[in-house]
Amino acid sequence: PVPVIALVGRPNVGKSTLFNRLTRSRDALVANIPGLTRDRHYGSATIDDQRVVLIDTGGFEPVAATGVAEQMARQTRQAVIEADVVVFVVDGRQGLLARDEEIARELRRTARKVILAVNKSEGIARAVAAAEFHALGLGDPMPISATHGDGVRALMDACLEDW
Ligand code: GDP
Ligand code: MG
Repeated sequence: PVPVIALVGRPNVGKSTLFNRLTRSRDALVANIPGLTRDRHYGSATIDDQRVVLIDTGGFEPVAATGVAEQMARQTRQAVIEADVVVFVVDGRQGLLARDEEIARELRRTARKVILAVNKSEGIARAVAAAEFHALGLGDPMPISATHGDGVRALMDACLEDW
């Protein structure tokens, strides 16, 4: 089986940048996997020899329909249902916001494996980038830079650790 990894988090934290860095043959493999809805971005990637499916959440419904918070909650729940591993992306430059805490609350309830990625951490000491996000109660935050690639390999290794 192919592990499904969902990228969740509030808007502008860098989910799509990370998704685009990781995926090449978008939608090719994914079309054959049952149980995935069609209205979101799927892509596939190969980490070592392991194929994975990535889900990029966010930006698929008009915000006006429900409001940002409700929309994020829905997308988070849907991604969690579909995923084997959830990568919760936060923004190390903006720091911890109330919306991050709302998403974390949702994620702490799931039985899925959740990995906390602190994006935009290039040029910031790892311990400093991670520090405040320990409070989310989702384990050790992993500093990454989706634009530069720092920490992305370690993040994927962590996702696949028990697979
Ligand atoms: P999304 O809304 O979570 O999908 O976020 P995007 O991937 O669209 O990125 C939002 C903004 O953050 C864009 O301007 C990206 O270029 C920027 N961004 C993404 N990753 C990084 C990063 O690692 N470092 C920095 N400095 N900016 C980033
Ligand atoms: Mg996006």
